[in-house]
Amino acid sequence: MGGRIALVTGGSRGIGRACAVALARDGHRVAVCYAHDDAAASDTRAAIEDVGGEALVLRADVSDPGAVDRAFAGVEGAWGRVEVLVVNAGINRDGLLLRMGDEQWRQVLETDLSGAFYSLRRAAAGMVRNRWGRVVMVGSVVGFSGSGGQVNYGAAKAGLVGLARSAARELGSRGITVNVVAPGPITTAMTDALTEERRAKMTEQVPLGRFGTPEDVAALVAFLCSDAAGYITGALVPVDGGMGMGH
Ligand code: NDP
Repeated sequence: MGGRIALVTGGSRGIGRACAVALARDGHRVAVCYAHDDAAASDTRAAIEDVGGEALVLRADVSDPGAVDRAFAGVEGAWGRVEVLVVNAGINRDGLLLRMGDEQWRQVLETDLSGAFYSLRRAAAGMVRNRWGRVVMVGSVVGFSGSGGQVNYGAAKAGLVGLARSAARELGSRGITVNVVAPGPITTAMTDALTEERRAKMTEQVPLGRFGTPEDVAALVAFLCSDAAGYITGALVPVDGGMGMGH
């Protein structure tokens, strides 16, 4: 299995780190980028190496197209063209619609949606030349079910689906698949910030009765990045404990 060159955006912790480790376990060389947390990124490097993988850790803010370009150039300089891209970097800046500021809107759209576009555009150039590629974007149940207080995040995550499906149509003839996974609530720093009350309410909506783990998401992502998933593209695959009942 594996043997490809992979890049996971937002790989310094949480779901991104779990994806990086799962891909390394499958035999891929794995680069991760992150925006701020050098110490967490070093821990990701150690986690990849612990499973026998080769790691590259790059600081790059995905909302800056120049930084994205430099990150890809870094991977190309070290190993070669990126063949597997996991678009995972994401933030939330929650607030009710009537109180949501322009900056709150912009920050989330620029990281979660524009960042995905910059990463995909840069990756696609090499994948087209290789006539092979795997792209997985980490969306969210919020992208199709909506969530009060998250108009910015919901819009960005819904946007990923249109981005991925349009790219899937453009790139399919070159052996490149583009899919979206839609996690429900997953235990990470992002959801640690929720109040106990909100966590309890969300858990009630999950038939499996628990928050998922980053590894629950990573197992699906790693499969979609494999050769075995070569006939799956444009899909939106939930990993949500049944919260959306298949949607
Ligand atoms: P975390 O907050 O734990 O991790 C986010 C990661 O993204 C970190 O590595 C962070 O690195 C990185 N990151 C943030 N902004 C940028 C940026 N501008 N450029 C590069 N990297 C960046 O979040 P999760 O692991 O929970 O979430 C990962 C993805 O999964 C997100 O897209 C999120 O929307 C999605 N998701 C999460 C769910 C959950 O319940 N946790 C549910 C559904 C979807 P650094 O801190 O160094 O900037």
